[in-house]
Amino acid sequence: MRELLRANIASLVPYRCARDEFTGTASVYLDANENWQDFVAEKGRNRYPDPLCVNLRHRIDEVMGLPFAHTVVGNGSDEIIDNLIRMFCVPGKDRILLMPPTYGAYRVFADINDVKSDVVPLNENFGIDFPALEAYLAQEKRDRGNGRCKLLFICSPNNPTGNAFPVSQIEQISSRFDGITVVDEAYFDFNRYPSAVTLLDRHPNLVVLRTLSKSWGLAGARVGILVASEDICQVMRSMKYPYNVSSPAQETALHDLDHADAVREGTKEILAERERLNEVLPTIACVKQVYPTDANFFLVKVTDADGIYRYLMGKGIIVRNRTHEYHCQGCLRLTVGSKAENQALLAALKEWKG
Ligand code: PMP
Repeated sequence: MRELLRANIASLVPYRCARDEFTGTASVYLDANENWQDFVAEKGRNRYPDPLCVNLRHRIDEVMGLPFAHTVVGNGSDEIIDNLIRMFCVPGKDRILLMPPTYGAYRVFADINDVKSDVVPLNENFGIDFPALEAYLAQEKRDRGNGRCKLLFICSPNNPTGNAFPVSQIEQISSRFDGITVVDEAYFDFNRYPSAVTLLDRHPNLVVLRTLSKSWGLAGARVGILVASEDICQVMRSMKYPYNVSSPAQETALHDLDHADAVREGTKEILAERERLNEVLPTIACVKQVYPTDANFFLVKVTDADGIYRYLMGKGIIVRNRTHEYHCQGCLRLTVGSKAENQALLAALKEWKG
């Protein structure tokens, strides 16, 4: 892994914040230029948060089974995606590989870092195009000069298509690719396949992303998780913002992780509504195709994506128009909402006269 790092990151002398230098318990803290006055009574917001999220990572280990030494907590998994690009890719030289249609932020974060995105699109059934991927990897190896492809992103279940990829396929790719394979499991809890975390022992250059934004219902808290080798985790800890996860976010996440049973029940409810939508959506006249989903949303081909998108918006129902994404012409992405929200969506779609 070390040889894949950007040289400036490999040789980085990390910033050591006050909370890194002293981690015990003391009665007088005069080390971090904090304000001793706690204006938001008793909340401890006058103090900096734990840079390493130690308590939270122990809880993540206990509740989610993601081992303490193998995790880094980010300000959402978006931060972790950006950090991975900054850790490995030399701006203006290295590249990443995407399999569109997929989560749009990978490309945007790469663009911001002046890192080019190569693409091997998914096939028309939104499966991985293995012959094309094989050809790309062989060509990429031959063409290596100044820079190379450092990161390959697999989103499973994939946004916006909803389908997940079997772990065997992810393993096949990781065995073949000599960079870092990033498996984004943001929607893992809605999925029928096991996690790619099971591959970490045998594939040290594979990393997995999780988030509390979806099944855990904490999108507003901004808590994402990197699961990776101890080595990769250590490097990310050295280059991330020191206080990247606020204390309200850490406390909120700790609190919610104590309610795993309620969250599991909530996920079951979403899956039941997903099943209902899966039955009803295909019976609606303007719906041409409902793609199979392993996530909390559907990609749906409709008779007039732009028209229906605007019509729904006029009724106060906001969905995502994905018609301009690769292989997604005429498609909307519909999040599974509450029973009442789904009912409103279905009723509006039934009323559409295009
Ligand atoms: N990955 C995927 C596939 C997503 O769809 C999203 C958010 N929609 C994210 C990552 C970012 O999640 P977070 O809230 O953890 O930043």
